[in-house]
Amino acid sequence: MHVNIAIDGPAGAGKSTIAKRVARELGILYLDTGAMYRAMALKALRQGVSPLDEHAVIPLLAQTEIYAKSIGGVQHTYLDGEDVSGLIRTQEIAQGASDISAIPSVRIKLAEAQRAVAQKNDVVLDGREIGSFVLPDAPYKFFITATVRARARRRLDELKAKGQCPADLHLAEMEDQIARRDHNDSTRAFAPMVQVPEAIYIDTTEMNEDEAVAAVLCHLPQRIGEGE
Ligand code: C5P
Repeated sequence: MHVNIAIDGPAGAGKSTIAKRVARELGILYLDTGAMYRAMALKALRQGVSPLDEHAVIPLLAQTEIYAKSIGGVQHTYLDGEDVSGLIRTQEIAQGASDISAIPSVRIKLAEAQRAVAQKNDVVLDGREIGSFVLPDAPYKFFITATVRARARRRLDELKAKGQCPADLHLAEMEDQIARRDHNDSTRAFAPMVQVPEAIYIDTTEMNEDEAVAAVLCHLPQRIGEGE
């Protein structure tokens, strides 16, 4: 039996940074499930299909292969054999991923791929519904969040640091985008983002990265995968 750690929560809460560091501390794999939805959105957009158009997206699924590989501790996401990791971090793909993730057959396909990884590895998975839908039996579950304002500010700071912040993108607009994605994620009919009662709730609004990582690690065994 492998140990699976589910980290769910909304966009910009710091989940992926925290999940990556927790996985590194424990010496286990990290799986960014959002990257898989982003790759699926890229596939649709490349085919000229709207990520909102369920009837056009469904036939694409049978012709799509998405998987993740860890190379030197860094996740690479593959779409039909092509490493698309560098292409899926745009605002357009983020919105496309949010839209396409509402389609049940997309979720079923990607959840199966995620379960296969979890069955074969000790792994930290970050997503929206890992604890409720993908791995309801995971022994460790966290729900990590922060206020919309704090998350919008972090996203803006990230874009600025990468030199990718459009001059006309202001905090209020980023807050709107984040709130829209929260709404999409938590109101979709199938497998919405949800905090299951057994998940440990962590609000990172007032925490720095080290504090947030420590808040997760203190609920986990120090060693995993060696008969702890
Ligand atoms: O986490 P990230 O921002 O990369 O996710 C992109 C989008 O993919 C999210 O807004 C969400 O709609 C969707 N997603 C999901 N379920 C997951 C991970 C991501 O629906 N497990």
